[in-house]
Amino acid sequence: MRGLFRRTPLEHPTGPLEGHKLAFPMLSADGTTAGFSGVTLGRAHVYRTVDDAVCAHGCRHASPSRWCDCGFYCFHTADDARELACAPEHQGAILLEVAASGRFRRYELGLRYARQRVRTIRMRPCRCGSRVAVLADTGSGQHGWRRLEPVCLRCAGARPVLSAQRFAELADLTLLPDDLAAGPLTTPDPVGTGEDPHDAEPADGAMGDPVATAGAVAVLTAEMALLQARLDEMARQLGRATARLDVLEGRDRPAAEPGSEPDR
Ligand SMILES: [Zn+2]
Ligand SMILES: [Zn+2]
Repeated sequence: MRGLFRRTPLEHPTGPLEGHKLAFPMLSADGTTAGFSGVTLGRAHVYRTVDDAVCAHGCRHASPSRWCDCGFYCFHTADDARELACAPEHQGAILLEVAASGRFRRYELGLRYARQRVRTIRMRPCRCGSRVAVLADTGSGQHGWRRLEPVCLRCAGARPVLSAQRFAELADLTLLPDDLAAGPLTTPDPVGTGEDPHDAEPADGAMGDPVATAGAVAVLTAEMALLQARLDEMARQLGRATARLDVLEGRDRPAAEPGSEPDR
């Protein structure tokens, strides 16, 4: 992790230490328990709201250990957790605020520690940019656990969903307001009218995006050229068939059936 967790001097805190991290929301297969799975080391392990670290490599030593990289990890600040959230493979992860306790090692940007209580969670926007409405089943997960992801109703589609509030209740923690874009980035719907960007339509009823319009025209032009070519080919075939019919009719005229005479 590009040296983020460089060691700093030893210390002896008197109470739990606050930290921030990213995690994927998980729901037990029977739907009765909520948990989390890590986004980096420990991805294969699901932890509960209050849990003790176990070695991610299956060793039986106490975790964390000086000789191993296992244990819970967190950042000192929520902004560092947000930076980690920029990586595309972390889409679908939510922000956690945790209390770290037990044996721990402090690094420049965060902690590695033995015991963790997840205090609060915050949803991050749907991958389409819309505000999150529900947690939907991703279809992936691990033994006994389904991985969920925060999505808008449109992106949820027909998948099984759970409200973020219900997830927080199952996990026995506090759901904080959604994490919104910071700095110069703003959401297209800052006043919170609940409008879905999927439904956005151009004001004058025309196709608003000139690039999309140009693309559509190009496709239509290509299709018309293809139709024209087919028509030309059919005209040629019709011409050949008509000529052949003329020949056949010329040959068959003396033997034409009486019933075929038009003026009879
Ligand atoms: Zn270990
Ligand atoms: Zn969406």
